[in-house]
Amino acid sequence: MKITVVGFWGAYPEQEEATSCYLVEHNGMKVVIDCGSGAVSQLQRYTELKDVDAVVFSHYHADHIADLGVIQYARIVDKALERTSDSLLMYGHQEDKAAFQSLTKEPAVEGLPYSEGESLQFGEMKFTFCRTDHPVPCFAIRVEAAGRSAVYTADTTYLDELVQFSKGADLLIAETSFYADQDSKPFGHMNSVEAGRMARKAGVGHLVLTHLPHFGNYEDLVKEARGEFGGEVELAAGGKVFKL
Ligand SMILES: [Zn+2]
Ligand SMILES: [Zn+2]
Repeated sequence: MKITVVGFWGAYPEQEEATSCYLVEHNGMKVVIDCGSGAVSQLQRYTELKDVDAVVFSHYHADHIADLGVIQYARIVDKALERTSDSLLMYGHQEDKAAFQSLTKEPAVEGLPYSEGESLQFGEMKFTFCRTDHPVPCFAIRVEAAGRSAVYTADTTYLDELVQFSKGADLLIAETSFYADQDSKPFGHMNSVEAGRMARKAGVGHLVLTHLPHFGNYEDLVKEARGEFGGEVELAAGGKVFKL
């Protein structure tokens, strides 16, 4: 399994970059997780848009869905020009009916539901979901293939359920919206220490800090997370690749 960080900013993208977006590939299947602001532009560094099989959304906040409409247009254009005959499959939860309905764009994009307790299969990749604690319904995603696993926390406060969900993962991509001395819980997010604690308690192999804030010294986030977690810790960055 190969995971490429396409966008990693919280809230809005810095110049030439994108908010939340990750490309997950295994044996020819290409699945995008979240498609935030700037994501469609950045995604083309790593794949042709026509080759994306599916997009899975953690939740419907703008920094995770801002490029929903334009990736739909891309597939409409690619199908009209006969670059592909495949519709783009878009998965989201159904707890916001209007947002879920916006996933479908005939005739090129098909919106489909996922729910906690069920799994999605993309080739040999299995996706499962865990509800997070955030101001709107949001789901963390675990991807497993060929005996390897990665967990993306999506947006959340520190949660014991997510520790369980992340148990033994090779890679934890954890949202880190604040620094150690900041109380992240009222905002529905985690800080660097909480991300590190989640990694330690879940016994993951490798921690990647993402959904980064627009202030402070980023190396402090890494140091603070390392105070909790003894494994490898690094910052997400556009184009970083993790091979599992
Ligand atoms: Zn977010
Ligand atoms: Zn959010």
